[in-house]
Amino acid sequence: MRSKFIFITGGVVSSLGKGLASASIGALMESRGLTVSLLKFDPYINVDPGTMNPFQHGEVFVTDDAAETDLDLGHYERYTHAEMGKKNNFTTGQIYDAVISKERRGEYLGGTVQVIPHITDEIKSKVLDLADNVDLVIVEVGGTVGDIESLPFLEAIRQLRSDLGRENTAYIHLTLVPYIETAGELKTKPTQHSVKALREIGIQPDILLCRTSRFLTPQVKEKIALFCNVDKDAVITAKDVESIYEVPVAFHQEGLDNRLVELLNIWTGRPNLRPWDRLVRKVKNPKRSASIAVVGKYVHLKDSYKSLHEALIHGGIANDCRVNLNYVDCERMEKEKADGLLKGAHGILVPGGFGQRGMEGKIKAVQYARENKIPFFGICLGMQAAVIEFARNVAGLKRANSSEFDVNTTAPVIYLMEQWVDREKVVQKRDIHSDKGGTMRLGAYPCKLVERSVALRAYNRKMIWERHRHRYEFNNEYKEMLTKSGLKVSGLYPDGDLVEVIELGDHPWFLGCQFHPEFKSHPMDPHPLFRDFIKASLGNQRGDSSGKRQRGRTVSRKKG
Ligand code: GLN
Repeated sequence: MRSKFIFITGGVVSSLGKGLASASIGALMESRGLTVSLLKFDPYINVDPGTMNPFQHGEVFVTDDAAETDLDLGHYERYTHAEMGKKNNFTTGQIYDAVISKERRGEYLGGTVQVIPHITDEIKSKVLDLADNVDLVIVEVGGTVGDIESLPFLEAIRQLRSDLGRENTAYIHLTLVPYIETAGELKTKPTQHSVKALREIGIQPDILLCRTSRFLTPQVKEKIALFCNVDKDAVITAKDVESIYEVPVAFHQEGLDNRLVELLNIWTGRPNLRPWDRLVRKVKNPKRSASIAVVGKYVHLKDSYKSLHEALIHGGIANDCRVNLNYVDCERMEKEKADGLLKGAHGILVPGGFGQRGMEGKIKAVQYARENKIPFFGICLGMQAAVIEFARNVAGLKRANSSEFDVNTTAPVIYLMEQWVDREKVVQKRDIHSDKGGTMRLGAYPCKLVERSVALRAYNRKMIWERHRHRYEFNNEYKEMLTKSGLKVSGLYPDGDLVEVIELGDHPWFLGCQFHPEFKSHPMDPHPLFRDFIKASLGNQRGDSSGKRQRGRTVSRKKG
């Protein structure tokens, strides 16, 4: 087998940034010329992460091959060249589902089906499925050591060392080394306990990544090394950083990649981290700044708009611009004045979403952007809001709505297509009573852009592929009427004649897309729509005194 394996576990508390650490290790290994793939195991029982509430769980990341996955896969794609898909994320529910289906088919020949070996074998097979085509497979086990749920995954990765050999496997454990203000000290005890818990189940970590607010002194590293039975130079400081894009370089400075190639006995040249250095310099020292209002529902959970947040930052990088994001609660928008809540915004974005709550606030934000000629970017539900707003306030269809929110509307400009053709060209059927899972237009679809459009100027090519995740569509029955009133349809799904992009003339930058471009933006290769939206928002500052006042000042960031 060609691949070697890195297993990443987490201890002490959740939210230490295991996904970012895994992605950064991927980036470091690529910088040494190695090819990588990544895999995330999620210990929860849900079979379909797509139906999980973003309030609880953060964004659902969508891949080209139509998998609805954990948001960490977004980090993996942004930091590495690995393309994520269905094979890169499994939940406990999916693993059990696979085992139970095999049992039903009689594949276990009537034997007793057990966690060990059947569940663990299924987990191991998912790891091994990624091997062969890449030099390194990086496996992140979700959850925290000590959780009941993650035990089968930990047992499976423990077994893999005996199966694959010491030289082919490395275990990294991410822990917390808190600084206790009153003692004036970094505390190693939580790390010791966490490693103890890991060793009890048979895993001796090779490397400890210690998340901390200050550099670990040599004495602290020695202490951790002694108590946790690892080499001193395998204790790595994972210090908090200003920008998440600093992590690969910070890990390199601590010697993480050296240690890994030694452990795995891989011969590589020196890493080329110049692109990452350049990126960090750009992120930290932009010449300009712009304030963007994001009007949405999930404004209180940091992770619900993860890819969107990053794509906007990337749009800033492309324009040498710091993007100050102001997340505006669309329910507040329903009750309060738009010009109060959106004051000082150089650009307004309405993101994707589901459900009626706050929808009228989103429509109000579109109207404000349209009438005041503020650059506007509507994504998925945001595009649907733009179509509804235009139909109501420009085309005179006063009761225009999406049938998602008003099944009896007399003007369903956005509606549920009951029959449609999916990516595999299979005819799918659904109605309002269909299951929530598995009935969406999901994954990458082609879209053809029309001449002289804002979209074509951004992409600079006629055929694009973007990722979808929605049920409702622009209703072609209203196409002629809306276009006559001035709405421009600038992107179409060629096979189904579905409207994918809309624009407005006589506006500095107004674009709505039915797909989610944020899933395909990279820090090193910012998405063209985000690049141009930020560019237009910067343009909106010229001669605008409120914009000028904003320059160089950090507007309060409600979300990190
Ligand atoms: N709720 C809308 C639909 O299902 C939009 C979905 C989205 O924004 N991702 O079509």
